[in-house]
Amino acid sequence: MKAKEISRRAFTTRGSGLVSGMLAASALSPSFASLQEGKVLDGHMHLESYGTYWEGLEDEIIEHYNYAGIDRGVVFTAWTPSRESNNRTLAAHKKHPDRFIPFGHIRTEDPDWENELERIGKLGWKGIKLHQNEISRGPDLEEKTHLVVKTAADCGVHIILIHLEDVDMVSRLAGELQQVNWIIPHMGSYKTSDEMKSYCDLAKQRANVYLDTSGAQYHRFGQQFEWAGVEKIIFASDGFWFNPYVEKAKIEILQLPTPFRTPKLTNRELGMILGGNLARILQM
Ligand SMILES: [Zn+2]
Repeated sequence: MKAKEISRRAFTTRGSGLVSGMLAASALSPSFASLQEGKVLDGHMHLESYGTYWEGLEDEIIEHYNYAGIDRGVVFTAWTPSRESNNRTLAAHKKHPDRFIPFGHIRTEDPDWENELERIGKLGWKGIKLHQNEISRGPDLEEKTHLVVKTAADCGVHIILIHLEDVDMVSRLAGELQQVNWIIPHMGSYKTSDEMKSYCDLAKQRANVYLDTSGAQYHRFGQQFEWAGVEKIIFASDGFWFNPYVEKAKIEILQLPTPFRTPKLTNRELGMILGGNLARILQM
């Protein structure tokens, strides 16, 4: 196939990885070339499927990434005790070092959680995945989250991907601990439309708060991206329970007219969401 015959649709739906393997950037039109400058990064991939792991699962993720045109993904294990989680992530990263960006995981019920944070820091991992129920189910949630994140930061971990369903608490913690970047999955895991707007406003207001697109109401993305600012949005699949190819398409279709009459994403904005914003905070 000649360069001119590759349609925009073929490029965007099959991803930059495939095209970059087929063509030199110089053969592409300026808009194709500018999109290709950035890699496509998935900000949220589990090395398990709703808690279940099977031999070779990490290779199946690569198969998904190749199909979807995703260059690299943040991977972690989050359904097992701290050390077991980090061991699996370490093994997967050793197997696919060029495709996986490892994030750690800890639960405060494990007595070794501080040692695990230290280990994650020494491994050079840049982030951790936390879930509020694994930090505390009691009234000390905010205090304990502060302790865990401060400890992580002191170990050199500076990206906190955290499921925390309290927008005011996230705001206070992000204000107190500005040395880390906070990524809130599922565009904030909001339950109401008011909460959805509040998480977007928080991302707009606080320089160190970002939102990931996984598992959210994608038909509202046009509005949400306007509220938060495209520079605060991180493409994420939460795969492959959720399919990376489909999740990526939910972002790409914002280059088409939206029902909420929000402006179409430019190639530059699409590139920021699909990888540029995450690459910046990963310091890649
Ligand atoms: Zn997840």
